[in-house]
Amino acid sequence: MAIRQMRYSGDPILRKKCKYVDDVNDKIRRILDDMMDTLHETENGAAMAANQVGILKRLVVIDYLDNYLKLVNPEIIEQTGEQSCIEGCLSFPGRYVRTIRPQSVTVRALDENGSEIIVTGEGDMAKCFCHELEHLDGIVFLDNAVEEIEISADDE
Ligand SMILES: [Zn+2]
Repeated sequence: MAIRQMRYSGDPILRKKCKYVDDVNDKIRRILDDMMDTLHETENGAAMAANQVGILKRLVVIDYLDNYLKLVNPEIIEQTGEQSCIEGCLSFPGRYVRTIRPQSVTVRALDENGSEIIVTGEGDMAKCFCHELEHLDGIVFLDNAVEEIEISADDE
C-alpha cells in the first residue's frame, strides 16, 4: 500500500493531457493500486484520475455507489440525456459548481488485466465518469461550471 501525493488547484499537471497506456503490466497495476489507496485516504473521495497524483497516464479509479473500477484508457462511447449536477473535486477542496452532464454515459476501457470492459453509468455515476475522463485531457470541472455553489461546512 502506498499513498501518492495529491495535486491541487494551480498545479500545472492538472492541465496536461495524459498519455495512452500501451501495456497493462505490473507497473500499471501498482499505480492503479496506489491510486485506489490514495482515494481511500481522502474524505468522501469517489474517484481519481492519474494526473491528480502526478502521473500523466490515462488511468482512473472509481469507488462510488456500486462501482469499484480500475480503468485504463477509458473513453466515452455513448451518452444520452441531460441532468443538472453539483460537482466537486478532490483537487479543488471546498469548491462546488453546477454543471450540466448527460444522464447516462457508457465507457469503454481496459481493466487492470488488459481486458476490454464496457460500463454504463446513470445519474451520479454518469457525472463521475464525465468528470474523471475529462481530467485525463487536462479539463477540470470548473471549465464546465454554469454557476458556483456555496456549500457551508455544516452541509458537507
Ligand atoms: Zn476531479
